[in-house]
Amino acid sequence: MSVGKVLLVEDDPLQAEATKKLLIKGGYDVLWASDGVNAIKSIKMHMPDLILLDVMLPGLDGHEVCRWVKLEDSTKGIPVIMLTAKKDISDKVAGLKGGADDYLPKPYNELELNARIYASLRTKALQDELRTKNKELEELLLKVEHMATVDVLTGLFNRRRFHEALASEFERSRRFNTPFSLIMADIDRFKDINDNYGHQIGDSVLREVADVLSGQIREIDTAARYGGEEFMIILPNTEKALAVVVAERMRIGAENHTFAGISGRRLTVSFGYTGMPDKLITNEEALIRCADHALYTAKQHGRNRVELFEGHNLESLKEL
Ligand code: GH3
Ligand code: MG
Ligand code: MG
Ligand code: MG
Repeated sequence: MSVGKVLLVEDDPLQAEATKKLLIKGGYDVLWASDGVNAIKSIKMHMPDLILLDVMLPGLDGHEVCRWVKLEDSTKGIPVIMLTAKKDISDKVAGLKGGADDYLPKPYNELELNARIYASLRTKALQDELRTKNKELEELLLKVEHMATVDVLTGLFNRRRFHEALASEFERSRRFNTPFSLIMADIDRFKDINDNYGHQIGDSVLREVADVLSGQIREIDTAARYGGEEFMIILPNTEKALAVVVAERMRIGAENHTFAGISGRRLTVSFGYTGMPDKLITNEEALIRCADHALYTAKQHGRNRVELFEGHNLESLKEL
């Protein structure tokens, strides 16, 4: 059984023959190239596990081949051992600078050759393993991050992520004095859907409402499931005058949508909105309270409506 595929790049046929023998004895599969251009062709075609690279070669020399190997994404992980004349320090330095992983002074003996190859292959195996582990870890982190920010039922952001997004939007708006709007939505008489068609149909209706709402917003907006059948939409860089247009579009979208599983029955959604800048709204909680009051007003006024509530309305509530 082969313990690895080694490409030997050596222009001297006698030297090549001797080294090949040692390698085969060590259990390696051996490829041979006698110059730099053929070495690169062979590397591309066979993807060896390791390259033994003579420095002095006709045409492209060993340093140039090494540089090519280490610049290519697909080959830079292949260990390169430079074969250098015994006393030539400058060759060693140049080799290591060019990205070689090790060097082997010529003439070498069997033990030293095998030891260096073994060490390089082991390092490569460890690096490969580390890379795989890192990739797995990254994927896991992405999954955990996803689970921590996305609502499983609807695929919208969850409440936690909503609060984070609102905090950063609030901060940005305060710092740069840019407007943004907040819309709160609540399905009308949703309890009836559950009561008449069951919780499962209720869930699928919830998902469809989420799709209808998120279908009306831009990439930079944030739609989140805030509670059972309540949603929040953050619209960055958006004046209240535009937020009401977006909310109206959502309202009409829901009204016109045919939901699966509820026998053609129509379903509506109520909306409350508010926005910044507003001198009387000094923190996120106050902003949410405004949206919530606006939504409450929409329900009071008969549902399937869009209502506004601003900071000065909060002030007048206090006076009551
Ligand atoms: P209103 O127009 O005043 O909003 O009436 P409503 O019936 O929608 O309001 P209410 O708050 O009385 O009821 C909300 C219902 O939403 C009650 C609850 O069973 C249901 N609900 C909340 N979360 C879920 C969920 O995840 N799935 C399902 N199927 N139902 C849910
Ligand atoms: Mg040579
Ligand atoms: Mg409701
Ligand atoms: Mg509700």
